[in-house]
Amino acid sequence: MELKIIFLPFPTPGHILPMADLAKTLASHGVECIIITTPANAPLFQTSPNNPPLTIHSLPFPAAEVGLPPGIENFSKITSEDMRSKIFTGIHMLCNATEDLIRDILPVDCIVSDMFHPWTSDFAAEIGVPRVFQLTSSIFSSCCDLCVKFNAPHEQVEKDDDFVTLPSLPHKIEMMKSQIPLWVRIPNRFTYLMDVVREAGLKSSWVLANTFGEAEKEYEECYNNLTGIKIMNIGPLFLCNKEEEGKASSAELDCWKTCLDWLDQKKASSVLYISFGSLTLFPDDQLQEIAAGLESSGHDFIWAVKRKKAEKTEGGNEDEQWSVDEFRKKMEASNKGFIIQGWAPQRLILKHQAIGGMVTHCGWNTLLEGVTIAGVPIITWPQFAEQFYNERLVVDVLKIGVAVGVTQWCNLEDTGKELVSRAKVETAVRAVMDNSERAAEMRQRAKKLSETSNGAVKNGGSSQANLVAFLDELKTRRSKAV
Ligand code: UDP
Repeated sequence: MELKIIFLPFPTPGHILPMADLAKTLASHGVECIIITTPANAPLFQTSPNNPPLTIHSLPFPAAEVGLPPGIENFSKITSEDMRSKIFTGIHMLCNATEDLIRDILPVDCIVSDMFHPWTSDFAAEIGVPRVFQLTSSIFSSCCDLCVKFNAPHEQVEKDDDFVTLPSLPHKIEMMKSQIPLWVRIPNRFTYLMDVVREAGLKSSWVLANTFGEAEKEYEECYNNLTGIKIMNIGPLFLCNKEEEGKASSAELDCWKTCLDWLDQKKASSVLYISFGSLTLFPDDQLQEIAAGLESSGHDFIWAVKRKKAEKTEGGNEDEQWSVDEFRKKMEASNKGFIIQGWAPQRLILKHQAIGGMVTHCGWNTLLEGVTIAGVPIITWPQFAEQFYNERLVVDVLKIGVAVGVTQWCNLEDTGKELVSRAKVETAVRAVMDNSERAAEMRQRAKKLSETSNGAVKNGGSSQANLVAFLDELKTRRSKAV
């Protein structure tokens, strides 16, 4: 009988997309995959007729109860900051219904859970089913988080701009105290949430990591040593998902085509791709600095812009806000840049041979895609969550990028408050895009990493072998239970 696995995704693109990739991958290995989600997120799990289907259970999202308009069930759809916590609350309100549904579906071989469903640890133990935690960031960042939690190295320094050394890691990792998440330094509502999430993680039977090839091997061992939990790298999962890229509206598809046609006329490795992921919104003054820095670097670029709604600033006026549209028109006229205001076809862009570098907020999926698909040097511009840890992985461990120079970890609502100047932007762009020895070395290392990463999911690759080993362990467990 085929294995049967339940998936509990969390509705933010950086978490739900890799879980959809995992479910579709396991379905192609003959596993019966059952997704429990909400109606507006269900389409992400639909498969085309030539691929095995997933079973999707949509639980009605309590939009009215939490005060959200119908259909706002994913962080990618929010139009104001308060909507995020309402989605969190709405998803949390579905716990009991999810538990009841799982009891009806039993027996299953395991529950694959997102980190933001920490309740699944105790529930899985209660019903005697293994909980598998799908890690949606680097193993490195988890090791940093655990090491900071267990050793509190930031308490040994005073000032925010003092450097903290993270102990017990395979590399010497140093960062400013102000770059360590605020919830770690000053207890707040996230401190409790993150403690619960971490503890739930530590009660998991396996951790499945979506990372590249062998590059994080040392950190797999480090994670095992720190937690005693078996972590298996099975990534990059998006390479295993055989579905067509993106379901988009016709307006979006038109814009995507124009963007890819624009890239066609550019020389190999000559264009910089800039994206800050699905959640980061910058205020206009920061966008203006980015625009000016890009322009003065002289390099061609594609910029996926998501902006904060114009805010009345003290002494300022909404009408005086800088205009992305004007900059877009200017760049179109000079043919130096292409601006996408909306959802960018990121993987298609990164696949294009014209891409030669990338600017990112260090969201894990974007890093994974940039390294694996494009194999290009990276400019790191972290903001929130574990992004400052990922910056250290890119700059210090993998040595494939340069930091733009952000010094303050911030909450998602405050992204872009620490203004990065146009001069810093230009310096960073030149460091990865100019013809320098340093850029060439980073490019070479990034290319190599891309090759190993792509090889990991092929037959005989490490991730492929780990995936088969994981399924074999589930089968063995099943045969012992019978
Ligand atoms: N993404 C995309 N187009 C966009 C913005 C994001 O395709 O315009 C995708 C991107 O390819 C990645 C995910 O959304 O797979 C973003 O995840 P990541 O972990 O990088 O950052 P987050 O959005 O969680 O901050």
